[in-house]
Amino acid sequence: MSGSALYDTFARLPLAFERGEGSWLITADGTRYLDFAAGIAVNSLGHAHPHLVAALTEQAQKLWHVSNLYEIPGQRRLGERLVENSFADKVFFANSGAEALECAIKTARRYHYARGEENRFRIITFEGAFHGRTLATIAAGGQKKYLEGFGPKVEGFDQVPFGDLKAVEQAIGPDTAAILIEPVQGEGGIRPVPAQMMKALRELCDRHGLLLILDEIQTGVGRTGKLFAYEWSGVTPDIAAIAKGIGGGFPLGACLATQEAASGMTPGVHGTTFGGNPLAMAVGNAVLDIILEDGFLDEVARKGLLLKQGLAAIADEFPEVVEEIRGAGLLLGIRCKVPNTALRDAMSEEKILGAPAGENVLRLLPPLNVTDGEIGDALERIRRAMQALAPAPAMAEAGRG
Ligand SMILES: *Cc1c(COP(=O)(O)O)cnc(C)c1O
Repeated sequence: MSGSALYDTFARLPLAFERGEGSWLITADGTRYLDFAAGIAVNSLGHAHPHLVAALTEQAQKLWHVSNLYEIPGQRRLGERLVENSFADKVFFANSGAEALECAIKTARRYHYARGEENRFRIITFEGAFHGRTLATIAAGGQKKYLEGFGPKVEGFDQVPFGDLKAVEQAIGPDTAAILIEPVQGEGGIRPVPAQMMKALRELCDRHGLLLILDEIQTGVGRTGKLFAYEWSGVTPDIAAIAKGIGGGFPLGACLATQEAASGMTPGVHGTTFGGNPLAMAVGNAVLDIILEDGFLDEVARKGLLLKQGLAAIADEFPEVVEEIRGAGLLLGIRCKVPNTALRDAMSEEKILGAPAGENVLRLLPPLNVTDGEIGDALERIRRAMQALAPAPAMAEAGRG
């Protein structure tokens, strides 16, 4: 037996925080860490944002939970605001990313079922994808390490190589219902899907009567400098899942769909106990109050560029540590030549947090309201971390001679 009462599923760092203030996390002994992981893109407005704290505490004194057997005004309001600001006509609220995506998958399957094509349930997905840890979403993600030992894989997912349009075309058959893709692969290592590819996938969907499902759980709600990452490509999906950033730290996910795509989701076919409860809705609406403020998203894009340019300069300085800087907005990745966990640990020594991802990438996902000063501070810390990892200059000189 291990020393803890908890499942041993997480490789946790020996680090605990007592409180947070904006872009900072603070341990019990008062040590301050610059939080450029933000709960993996969850703390979209940093920690203890006064507007979010006020919204949550005000709601907490009125009503925590009622069942979806009743009207929930905050849910109507958040739904309408998401619809007004997206491709969608309809919204279903859930508590997590995987749950939002389960709803997206069910919505796509029911769409074809309702049109009399019940065998049309297969969904094309991409290598390197991450869609969550439920049985259906590990099947969608297709990663062996997450599927192993959990019995038969949920049927109906066909995976093709990332960026391979030919393979997508070849995978389309009479039973194909949809294509599911992250506009930027997050856990996969901040791999953006080029706009051309998004356009081509949309065309394929239109030509074959498929639905385009976007997993915007990490990219959505302002992370890339637009409310949704699909806006960069000019392509709109039929269905999208969001989560992480919309709750600002409160568990909240949502499935967005066009009227047509949601047409199979009739009364009683799907449900949730907690999804869309008044506490979550109060916080979700408060998050949107700020992210939808005039100019907020432009600032995210500008700060993303500032951080990316700073990282590029550091990358030039430490070519033995950095392979590449990639990503958009405040969803950035440092592809490393040293192990990404070594960079994470060196950064941790400098009291700055980042989140490892696939392809040996270290992700930087600061709160969207991070300040220019904090970005400058972060760059200094990252530079010092790289210095600690790079071979000593004297030795490098000797090596060259
Ligand atoms: C985090 C994430 C998920 C899973 O969300 P959970 O809330 O952990 O269920 C799914 N897809 C993407 C792209 C994610 O980043």
